[in-house]
Amino acid sequence: MNDVVEKLLIWYVNNKRELPWRKDKDPYHVWISEIMLQQTRIEAVLSYYEIFMKELPDISSLAAVEEDKLLKLWQGLGYYNRARNLKKAAIQIMEQYDGKFPTTYVEIIQLPGIGEYTASAISSICFGEREVTVDGNVMRVFTRFYNDEVNISKNSTKKIIRDKLLSVFVSDFGLFNEAMMELGERVCIPNGMPKCDSCPLQEKCEAYHNENYYLFPIKDERRSKEEIDMTVFIFVWEKKTIVQKRKNAGLLHNLYEFPNMEGVLSFDEVLDYGSRYGTVESVSPSISYTHVFTHKKWKMQSYFVFMKKINCSNLFSSISSIEVNFAMPTAFSPFLYVLKEELK
Ligand code: SF4
Repeated sequence: MNDVVEKLLIWYVNNKRELPWRKDKDPYHVWISEIMLQQTRIEAVLSYYEIFMKELPDISSLAAVEEDKLLKLWQGLGYYNRARNLKKAAIQIMEQYDGKFPTTYVEIIQLPGIGEYTASAISSICFGEREVTVDGNVMRVFTRFYNDEVNISKNSTKKIIRDKLLSVFVSDFGLFNEAMMELGERVCIPNGMPKCDSCPLQEKCEAYHNENYYLFPIKDERRSKEEIDMTVFIFVWEKKTIVQKRKNAGLLHNLYEFPNMEGVLSFDEVLDYGSRYGTVESVSPSISYTHVFTHKKWKMQSYFVFMKKINCSNLFSSISSIEVNFAMPTAFSPFLYVLKEELK
């Protein structure tokens, strides 16, 4: 890669997208953007990033924010533990580093929620450390470029690729990392044809010369996800509905949801469930929706449960205040949508 690395850097400087976190090399900006970008596309992150920075412009404001407000800002990005870890790390930076972001990979990787990739990105881009970021994009470019048959599903592969890339002769590893990531996202793309004609690595790329880019990268078939059937209850009573807070541990903990139960309930069982909250006027099936998490799928069938009378102390909320006051994960957004349509 040494022969074409200069071309890669020039390509990046001339073609990079203008993104808000690239305006400076402020580690707070790079950090927040990197965490938001995990599993989420750049286009989707832009508006979240802008609002987040307006509300929490620096490490001290992040360290001091209320958890409910933080989760609300994060709503829609998923993986809420990432947001919680941001706050934990900000508190640690305030206490341990007097509010100043640590400057070395070794220190940065000690912070909660920061793994090898993010620590490498921050330390190389913001502090000029010799570190390499290796994600799916970079592994794809690497294995195509070298026709390398290494299995990218193996945990050890990242380290192998990282070590090889560290030997590339380049003075600015931050720039090199950004260029490789951008190339993987926009040129050496995963599905369909890579855009080899506009690729700065083309001259030395083995996949291009062998016309076998489609063989790389090599990976195991993904494990199938655990599927869980669920029944979701959308209560309706005087333009209000029930929301409940999830347990304070486990998946989506401390977020708000519509009441639900594991399993596919019959119509009569749904009626029975509704009766726990008062007198049911009627029940009707609503949408079904499947939400996919990293390791599991929730296959959800929802029911409207219209109530005549309520005799419970659950949290009844008007629909508009759900949106303002409660962080509700994306898994439940379709039900909120149909509820709003129903009550129009
Ligand atoms: S030449 Fe084509 S296959 Fe090779 S790195 Fe560039 S885009 Fe990927």
